Amino acid sequence: MPDRNESGPLHGRVVAVTGGGRGVGRAVVLAAAAAGADVAIAHRESEAGAKSAAEEARALGVEADVHRCDVTERDQVFKFVAAAERRFGRVDGLVNNAGIMPESPFLETTAQEWDRVIATDLTAAFHASQAVLPGMLERGSGSIVNIASRLGQIGWPGVAHYASAKAGLIALAKSISREFGQRGVRANSVAPGVTNTDMGRAVMAGEVGRRRMAELPLGRFGEPAEVADCVVFLLSDASALLLGQTLNPNSGGLMP
Ligand code: NDP
Repeated sequence: MPDRNESGPLHGRVVAVTGGGRGVGRAVVLAAAAAGADVAIAHRESEAGAKSAAEEARALGVEADVHRCDVTERDQVFKFVAAAERRFGRVDGLVNNAGIMPESPFLETTAQEWDRVIATDLTAAFHASQAVLPGMLERGSGSIVNIASRLGQIGWPGVAHYASAKAGLIALAKSISREFGQRGVRANSVAPGVTNTDMGRAVMAGEVGRRRMAELPLGRFGEPAEVADCVVFLLSDASALLLGQTLNPNSGGLMP
């Protein structure tokens, strides 16, 4: 067994990640493992991606567990957290990452579609935060990171449900920080700009994508590993003074 990163910022911690089988979530799993954390990986359809992420994490010398968890199902979210606590004894960090962004013009958005997006992109973080908080409060420490979006800060046509949910995640992190900060639990958000994943590639493609990229101060879109670095920072003690804050790995596309 290789040696874990004992000087890593997450050494000795346990980090649970939703949607950890691909995209940003998978990158967060690997970055947390590289920083020394044991990882509990939840996936819905991307079982193979989650299992291979666990293998890669173990190759970094940490423990890794894989669970199927549809984040819209409260029971499944609680079972995921309970299984992680059983296996590792604790969950120190929660990353609310799973998300969907179906496009639908506002006037054509059905109530069902609205509810599905809010359930996945916002209510799931409520379930997972409620599941991890009792253990965190008992130990007097914990860090919750919500993966929001630049669109949650500016709104966007065709994805009002998504943008509203992402704005909600930012407010959720602030509210949790205000309610539990004095008991050792911090919650913050990461609001990426367009990032090179299945979700991001839809935006990156074609002439519109090229134009948007050229307008970015950095001149390029983000990679999942670059977003994951921000998440690891917020999970670690290096960000001890940050509560209810939002980091913006967005290539300079929005400077709030
Ligand atoms: P992907 O489309 O690549 O991945 C989506 C992830 O969400 C998958 O891991 C998927 O799991 C999971 N997921 C979706 N629905 C559910 C569900 N009901 N239950 C459990 N898991 C679910 O997207 P990204 O990796 O890019 O997105 C990750 C986060 O980053 C999202 O919250 C997204 O909004 C945010 N973000 C992404 C940006 C981008 O440009 N890529 C920009 C700003 C924010 P599975 O495959 O197992 O079904």
